Amino acid sequence: MWRIKEEKPSTMIDRYSRQTLFGGIGEEGQRRLGNSCVVIIGCGALGTIIATSLVRAGVGKVRIVDRDFIECHNLQRQVLFDEDDIRNELPKAIAAERHLKKVNSSVEVEGIVADVNYTNIEKLISGADLILDGLDNFETRFLINDVSIKHKIPWVYGGAISSAGWTMTIIPHETPCFRCLSPTIPYPQVNLTCDTAGVISPAPFIIGSLQVAEALKILVGAKEEINRDLISINVWEGAFHHFKISHRPDCPACQGKYEFLEGKFGLRTTSLCGQNAVQVLNTKVGEFSLKELAACLKVIGQVTCNEFMLRFTIDSHEMVIFPDGRAIVKNTADESFARGLYTKYIGA
Ligand SMILES: [Zn+2]
Repeated sequence: MWRIKEEKPSTMIDRYSRQTLFGGIGEEGQRRLGNSCVVIIGCGALGTIIATSLVRAGVGKVRIVDRDFIECHNLQRQVLFDEDDIRNELPKAIAAERHLKKVNSSVEVEGIVADVNYTNIEKLISGADLILDGLDNFETRFLINDVSIKHKIPWVYGGAISSAGWTMTIIPHETPCFRCLSPTIPYPQVNLTCDTAGVISPAPFIIGSLQVAEALKILVGAKEEINRDLISINVWEGAFHHFKISHRPDCPACQGKYEFLEGKFGLRTTSLCGQNAVQVLNTKVGEFSLKELAACLKVIGQVTCNEFMLRFTIDSHEMVIFPDGRAIVKNTADESFARGLYTKYIGA
């Protein structure tokens, strides 16, 4: 599938000269980058920063996976996209591929429009030396964590919301993993998505850049330099903290139990025949407070709520959410779209 295009040696030296001058990379490091394959999962603010930096840095193969289309409110922070992409109704993965091919034609860029889940993730990461997290939800991160440990592929976690962000590097069978850090999906998660709590661009820009630095170190083989802490930032407060994370003795993933990859947990969708609606089940959730969720969603859309159900309307979409975390997304039969909406506004 991949074919790295030939670039004349003189052009290559010129293109990467400022990077090879840096002692941590050098000419040998540059060669290693050129022979590397990375997969970026999620192409929002983090993903666009990561993709543009790695393509410019000369990583030989960059695969970008995302399920969404570009919307106007993405342009505030998703640096690869423009208004033409919205007019042309392009999916993010395709727009990213088109823009990046113009930036560096000597590397291979592949955009894949897909909803990453336990049935397809192993195929999507095939051939990868490294996986980078540009996601907006915990469920898929747990899935990346499982697949990373199973296939011994390092990955770099990154998350940003509001003015804060977090990143951690996971080297399978060496560092603590993401489930050592967070054994279960945090819940209730109201306020935990960019679509409900908002986000300012410096938070994902800094986290994405830290992820890129980790990627460069891993790909050139600078093992000792790899960050082994959880880094937490808050750009509004100017705060930057390191936290030591330990291996959790009962971590299922570290013990080879890949519960997310086996499809035991996560969102389940069913198209409700004849109703033009999709039901979303969250298998990892106990009861949560509809009242709390209502308070959060009220800021961005119309909400009516009693103790039995919450009705949420935003743009042309309508969701009915129940106390067990189950939701019915109306006016669509598209299960992937319904999952996306659930992830966006309720969190997963
Ligand atoms: Zn673990």
